[in-house]
Amino acid sequence: MYPELFLCIAGSWRASSSGDTLPVIDPATEAELGRLPVATEADLDEALAAARSGFQEWSRVSAFERGKVLRKAAALLRARSEEIAVLLTREQGKPLAQARTEVMNSADLTDWFAEEGRRTYGSVIPARASGVAQLVTREPVGPVVAFTPWNFPVSQSVRKIAAALCTGCSVILKGPEETPASCSALVRAFLDAGVPGNALGLVFGRPAEISGYLIPHPVVRKVSFTGSTAIGKQIAALAGQHMKRTTLELGGHAPAIVFDDADLARALSVLTTQKFRNAGQVCVSPTRFLVHRTLFEPFVEGFVTYASTLKVGNGLEQGVEMGPLAHERRLHAMEDLVGEAVGAGAKLRTGGRRVGNRGYFFQPTVLTDLPVQSRLMNEEPFGPVALIQSFEEDEEAFVEANRLPFGLAAYAYTSSSSRSARISAELESGMISINHHGLGLPEVPFGGIKDSGYGSEGGAEAVEGYLLTKFVSQT
Ligand code: NAD
Repeated sequence: MYPELFLCIAGSWRASSSGDTLPVIDPATEAELGRLPVATEADLDEALAAARSGFQEWSRVSAFERGKVLRKAAALLRARSEEIAVLLTREQGKPLAQARTEVMNSADLTDWFAEEGRRTYGSVIPARASGVAQLVTREPVGPVVAFTPWNFPVSQSVRKIAAALCTGCSVILKGPEETPASCSALVRAFLDAGVPGNALGLVFGRPAEISGYLIPHPVVRKVSFTGSTAIGKQIAALAGQHMKRTTLELGGHAPAIVFDDADLARALSVLTTQKFRNAGQVCVSPTRFLVHRTLFEPFVEGFVTYASTLKVGNGLEQGVEMGPLAHERRLHAMEDLVGEAVGAGAKLRTGGRRVGNRGYFFQPTVLTDLPVQSRLMNEEPFGPVALIQSFEEDEEAFVEANRLPFGLAAYAYTSSSSRSARISAELESGMISINHHGLGLPEVPFGGIKDSGYGSEGGAEAVEGYLLTKFVSQT
């Protein structure tokens, strides 16, 4: 059964004050799963009032006690993982095994933030004059508003709410319209664990109306957003106008360079799996594969074999390896992007079409020899599309990798330590993984540079984003 959907304001699960709703669609069947409540300004005002009092209450709870509550939330997530994973697959489409992993990773993230919240140390600075004490303290920044997308509705939400709550901030989460039930189940676990109802609110609705109302509001001190670069820039502009702190985790177009000395089998095994995970709807998905001329044809052949034999279907079915795209917009985006590239002269090696005529399924697709000006080579595809290009000299690969304004993730395969050193130094990317896929663990930073945003959603750097620094000098 798909649950009835509610807003959660001041600890109370309830409908929108206007009764307005939007449909939630199963991407595998196009059936309506439920109705999403659309928050009104009156609802948002109540959420803001709760966040204000919630901050007063929660920031006074000791970090030790807050950590205990968060650890209990992690335990509840593990206990409810199967139920949450099924909801996640139904509304988002990813195969059930990937949904289970997302929920379990979210529990691990929560545990990690529970501990890290206890380490928000300040410092004592030796004074110039005797009898002067100079103290630096770290305090929670205040009520937070967090916007989370539909591709990882549980783990993207938890990165924001656990980081905010561990420091003593209150949070209003604007959940994803397309995938609200799994995100609601996450919030429920935190509230059931003992987070006060006024310290964690959940709203849904029309994103631009919600961000336009909440970000400028004086109660809100911090904004965290994950989504496209285009919307991220609008959010940053609005937040800047009202002097709100921001963390922005935006789009990417990750290069994956395979040098002539790479372990080809290993590169293929990791990169094919990562490319089609969550149907490519992953901000760190490898997308531009830059392969040395000597390995190009075997690499393409390996990719095509993997892509053309991948089992695509309803994520709830046994053995399915790739589900549908999460919503109809992405299906049309894939058709347009692939069509434009092929029209411009790219070679379609496999895929390129919608699967069937019900559900938002798109074939795992491999393209080669793309004109560099094609939209696919410049816009984040955010779908199951691999773009493979060949290069001759290392320099060409570095130039192409750094060509785009994005700088989220980059990958490289080589057996040379001097090349690895050059990759680490020269790739303009917030995260670089060499010879394996090693991103996204709770304790490591997660974030981009350039148009991919700023701030971090992982590691000690994530907690930093929810803290302010206060200096006190006294005699
Ligand atoms: P979109 O830009 O319409 O929406 C992306 C997300 O931003 C959604 O969760 C949406 O609710 C939110 N959003 C949109 N306008 C907003 C506003 N004014 N205020 C607050 N939130 C707002 O795009 P889409 O069709 O859902 O996805 C397309 C693109 O978004 C993808 O190509 C990808 O680049 C990007 N995206 C990135 C991530 C990520 O993990 N970084 C996740 C989802 C989507």
